[in-house]
Amino acid sequence: MTEQTGRGPEPAHERASATQVGARGPEGLPDEVGTDPGQADRATAGAGRPETGVAVLPAFDDHHPPEQELIDDCVHCGFCLPTCPTYVLWGEEMDSPRGRIYLMEIGRQGEPMNDEMVRHFDQCLGCMACVTACPSGVQYGKLIEATRQQVERRYPRSRRDRAFRALVFRLFPYPRRLRLLRGPLRLYQRSGLGGLVRRVGLTDRLLPRRLSAMERLLPTLGRLEPVPEVTPAAGPRRRRVGMLTGCVQRVFFPEVNAATARVLAADGCEVVAPAAQGCCGALSLHAGREAEAQAFARAAIQTFEAAGVDQVVVNAAGCGSAMKEYGHLLRDDPEFAERAAAFSDRVRDLSELLVELGPAAERQPLPIKVAWHDACHLGHAQGIRTQPRRALGAIPDLELREIGEAEICCGSAGIYNLVEPEPAAELGDRKAANVLATGADLLVTSNPGCLMQLRNALERRGERLPMAHVAEVLDAAVRGTDPRALLER
Ligand code: SF4
Ligand code: SF4
Repeated sequence: MTEQTGRGPEPAHERASATQVGARGPEGLPDEVGTDPGQADRATAGAGRPETGVAVLPAFDDHHPPEQELIDDCVHCGFCLPTCPTYVLWGEEMDSPRGRIYLMEIGRQGEPMNDEMVRHFDQCLGCMACVTACPSGVQYGKLIEATRQQVERRYPRSRRDRAFRALVFRLFPYPRRLRLLRGPLRLYQRSGLGGLVRRVGLTDRLLPRRLSAMERLLPTLGRLEPVPEVTPAAGPRRRRVGMLTGCVQRVFFPEVNAATARVLAADGCEVVAPAAQGCCGALSLHAGREAEAQAFARAAIQTFEAAGVDQVVVNAAGCGSAMKEYGHLLRDDPEFAERAAAFSDRVRDLSELLVELGPAAERQPLPIKVAWHDACHLGHAQGIRTQPRRALGAIPDLELREIGEAEICCGSAGIYNLVEPEPAAELGDRKAANVLATGADLLVTSNPGCLMQLRNALERRGERLPMAHVAEVLDAAVRGTDPRALLER
């Protein structure tokens, strides 16, 4: 049986379908793949981006091209189209899951990989809404992952694109490098310079669009709050769990990691956060940088194996989703294939583990209205929707509100909002409007990227809504914190 990329341990038949999470059906949409990929230029944003003029032939080499068997699973029904954010934005077939699968097919049949084909693959957010929506069980995650690896290996990106991607991948997966930036960035924010620069629109005028997007996404940096290497369980120990501290999470949202360790400990876990741990490889994996992702995965496996933990807990949806795919990522590695599959089986999202364990610590009332945002790599990729709602729903007086169009990505999607800032901003605006429509006091999610993206989208509208990671809300309930501490952030 073929593995399924981007899916957690929950059986497929227990997953919510796209319509159950609010998507419309394919009524009124075209019922067949357009046969002229060239028509895409008329509709797709980004059609004017720098072109290389190169046609790579054959499009795919023999090292794991998108599998024909998986391509053939697509029956072209179109159920995935209304949940695909890029199709929703542009109504362009080649920017839909069905269209992208068609491009993979023609690539296999002898069409070259050219600028236009790569653009449609690049513009996919990898959100996996199409996996939730597809009634035929098409494993789009595996298809796009294989395709992206081919693109990264074979397609000569423009010099500007290469330079920006090099900057991102030499910086974000390395917490030590990120930490070096913290001091100057904090000074920039606390001096008021950051606010002034944004108010007068200097970043947009002076910086290239991608660097400007990076600046605008930067969260407000508080104090560093390191997590101890071992946090003992409060009361009898129920599990010994490893905790991934992440790269962006560790440096930009240290308070989330601190809250995660406290909640786990309160519910009976001894929490081990190995100081030697590095990046899990999620950003690299989702961008098609196979060798880099494999190296990060091997190191993570070794680190947590050495820690002797029962399970590995992750509080960032994108990281958890990638770590559950290590078995697939390292399937060709004789030394790591089995270890990676066993490791992936032990990975749990924070809410997944807390619901599996059941609460040990009493939750104090939090009389607040919470809008829960399903991060795509939690809901669509891992099939985890009920657990965070159950974890939050167990807090007395907390009122949970659902966000309209929950299945549509907020535009964050790993590095998507950096490399494709315009569509990401459109999706962010759309999500921000849906969030505000809930009338909630607090927006809660499980992914640092979504928090940055939504804060930025709300800011663009001149709105402010307090936000928190689910770990921080649970921590406040366990500690009996005054709810104002969450609402006045
Ligand atoms: S992963 Fe998301 S953006 Fe990409 S094709 Fe599927 S639904 Fe569309
Ligand atoms: S990916 Fe699935 S939902 Fe989309 S067209 Fe193919 S079979 Fe239908």
